[in-house]
This record gives sequence, C-alpha cells and structure tokens, in this order.
Amino acid sequence: MTGRILIVDTVPTNRIVMKVKMLAAQFAVDACGSCDEAEALIAKERPDLILINLSDPVEDRHAFCRELKEEPDTASIAVISIGVADTARARFAALDAGADDVLPRPINDALLLARIRSLLRVRNARQELSLRDGTSRALGFEEVRKEFEVSATVALLSNAPATGDVLCAKLEHHLTLPVVRVDSDHVLARSAATPVPDLFVIDGTQDLDGGRGIYRLISDLRSRSDTRLSSLLVVLPDNQPDIAALVLDLGADDVIGVSVASGELGLRAKALIHQKLLYDRLRNTVRDGLRAAVTDPLTGLFNRRYVQPHLARIAAQAQSTQREFAVMMLDIDHFKSINDRYGHAAGDRVLVEISRRLRENLRSIDLVARIGGEEFMVAMPRTCSDQAQVAADRLRRLMSTKPFYLGPDLPYLTVTVSVGVAIGGLTRLDGVQIEAMCHQADAALYVAKNAGRDKVAMSDAA
Ligand code: GH3
Ligand code: MG
Ligand code: MG
Repeated sequence: MTGRILIVDTVPTNRIVMKVKMLAAQFAVDACGSCDEAEALIAKERPDLILINLSDPVEDRHAFCRELKEEPDTASIAVISIGVADTARARFAALDAGADDVLPRPINDALLLARIRSLLRVRNARQELSLRDGTSRALGFEEVRKEFEVSATVALLSNAPATGDVLCAKLEHHLTLPVVRVDSDHVLARSAATPVPDLFVIDGTQDLDGGRGIYRLISDLRSRSDTRLSSLLVVLPDNQPDIAALVLDLGADDVIGVSVASGELGLRAKALIHQKLLYDRLRNTVRDGLRAAVTDPLTGLFNRRYVQPHLARIAAQAQSTQREFAVMMLDIDHFKSINDRYGHAAGDRVLVEISRRLRENLRSIDLVARIGGEEFMVAMPRTCSDQAQVAADRLRRLMSTKPFYLGPDLPYLTVTVSVGVAIGGLTRLDGVQIEAMCHQADAALYVAKNAGRDKVAMSDAA
C-alpha cells in the first residue's frame, strides 16, 4: 500500500528514525519539527497520514489537530499521535482532539505499520467515494453527528459474561445508545430481518467460539456481504501488540486493551460509528447521483446516456445466444400542437403518461428510454422481426385507443405515436454498428411519419 506520510516531531533524531522506518515500508515521507512547517507541507504535498506527538510541550498541537479535522479539505487525513505519555488523560486528550489512534513509546513497529495500513484503507475508501461524489464536501462530520444518537446500532460480541457486562455498561454510558449483546454463533447466523449493526465491539479477551477464534470471526464479518461495511472495534488483553497488528490487518477498524479507560472506549466507539454513518451517506449520495445521471427527471425513464452501454450489452448477449433484438424509435405525433393548444404542462402530462404506458406494457428485460423531447427508444432483447412488428403495433394502439388526461378543465385528448423498428444482433455489433441500427430505426420512423403518422414502419434492413 502506498501513501504519503508526514512526520511532525521536534526532536531531529526521532524524525530521522521514524523516516527510515516509513521509507522502508515504501511510503513517501515528509518530516518537520513544528505545526507551522506542517501546515506549509500539508498545503503543498497533501499527506494521507500524519504522525505527530500531540502532547508536545512546545506548542499546542491539540488545537492544530482540531483545526485539521474541522477543515473539510483536510478532515480525512489520518492522524496517529505517537509518543504520547501513556496516561488515560493524555490518551483521551489526543483522541478528543481528533487523533485516530494514540501509540505511546516504546512503539511497536508491527503495530504501528498495521495501524497505518488500516487507516490508509479507510482513507482510500473515503477518497474513492468522495471522488465520485462532488457534493461530499457538504457532508461534513457535523451533519452525521446530528443523526448519530437516533440511528446507530451497536452490537457487543462477548462469550465472557463478566467482561461483556463491563464493556456493555461502559459503552451504553458513553454512547447513550442501547447495545445489543450477541454471541459469535448468533452473529454469523443473523437473520436477514434484524438490522445490521453499524458497530461491532468484539471482546477478544477470551477465545471466542471455541476453536474458531477471533481471527476467523473478524475475517468472517469482513467478508460477509451484510456486515462487510460495519465498523469493527476489537478489545484485546492488554499489551498484545502482535495480536493487535494481526487483527488490524484482518480488517478491524480499531483495537484497544481491555483495561482501557471507559472514556477512551467511548470516544473510539463514537469515532467508528461516525465513520460508518459517513460512509453510508457518501454511498447513498453516489448511488443517487448515478441514478440521477442516467434517468430523466420528468418521466423517470432512462436517458440517452444510459442507452449506449446498455445496447452494447444487449447486442453482445444477442450474438452469444443467437437471438435477434429489436430497437424501436417512438415519436409523438404533432406534439408541438398539444403544447401550443393546451400548454406545456399538458404536454408534460402526456409525456409522463406515455412513459407509464410504455413501462407497464413491456417486459422487465426491455429497455425504455426517453432519448429526446418527445422521442422514446425501446430495445427488446430476444425479439425477431415478426415479434417486433406485433409489439410495436401493440404499443402504437396502446396510445391511440385511450385518450390522455391533460389536466383540470381540459378535454381528454387522443394522442398518437409513430414507430420505426430495426432488427439486428446475429452478427457481432460494435458501437458504430449499433449506432447504425438506431439510424435505421430512425429512418423507419420517418417513413411512418410520411405514411400519415400513427403507423409502424419496419426498417428495410430488418
Ligand atoms: P411530428 O408529428 O412530426 O413529430 O411533429 P411534432 O410536433 O411532434 O414534432 P416537433 O419536433 O415539431 O415538436 C416537438 C415538440 O416537443 C417541440 C417541443 O417544444 C416539445 N417538447 C420537447 N420537450 C418537451 C418537454 O419536456 N415538455 C413539453 N411539454 N414539450 C416538449
Ligand atoms: Mg421529434
Ligand atoms: Mg413528434
């Protein structure tokens, strides 16, 4: 995994030692001694992760970290506070300022690198989502925080009742959320109806589930489609850096020792819930954005942008199954005069109703798209010329036989469409040939128009 790491440390030898370690792990590295220098470097060479001692006595680094995390541009840069005094208070202060983790000296290299990998994974995922989502800047942590209290679900997996009770009490106290207790058997056999927890807190102080063990459980949770996106916080016996490193590499989002102060447990759990909810939001925005990009807002049909790649898939399938497919162009007859006589809103109603009739009278494998103002395209897989002609005529009659509602105080109006049909697919069609097929359907459409409208015409090539 590559990434750019910024080391901030007042002591030059510390910087050098850390830099050597990071270079050996194949990271790009910058290093400096103060927050001012760090700011300049961040502006110039945006790092993915910062290693900094947040409780440095020389300057207020907590404020520096807070600003970093509050600024949308830099909020996703991961921060590990290294060399912090190993007291509950110092750890809490660093995490509270926004550090993603705190590693006191002496630093266990395996754990540090596993922690860096884990944080970079999160950052990469977040960046990828943000890239696809222009509005991600608007989705700050603050917004997520607001819905946090009501919507998050937390599950505690523990096979040790005593430890489980303590963890549960600490979590409920800090999260002010009910924590669901589950045993590891149960979680893997979860019914589809129960909501997927946003956060799993896994008690790894006992060998969970006899033989299966903590590693297996984490891998399972990470690989299952329902729990793959949940945050995982693993509680281990104290001072087990090698196990902690392995657990992080298996996909846990955070690891803590069992005797961690309850405030720290709460902070870490909250951060992981925020992270998960932020992901959910970004993902939904991306999905909604993708849908919006390929659909027409008025009719809900696919738009022209969706058509080309979809036709390419239909064509490839047609060739491999040796079943022809049909492309139809439908154009509303004298649509301009509907607008002119009854207004644009009436015209819109006609467009919406035509779309509805098309959608409801075609198979689920057929594609219906609005490709222009009053022009529609229908693609029908597994359809030969005769079947296409019958289907096109059915669609034509579907419009002409039932008058359209135009709006209050307006008469019902008979609307007709003309249809041009082209058939293809037995030979391999590339993009240019698929376009040519659409042109054939277009040419047939004009034949139908010239023949007096409310007609179906088959392309010669069909
Ligand atoms: P033809 O029978 O030859 O197809 O004639 P036509 O009037 O249907 O065709 P023409 O291309 O002359 O006019 C199309 C009209 O469709 C013009 C345009 O104002 C209207 N139109 C395009 N998009 C929309 C829309 O979203 N809503 C409404 N109400 N009208 C639209
Ligand atoms: Mg037209
Ligand atoms: Mg028209």
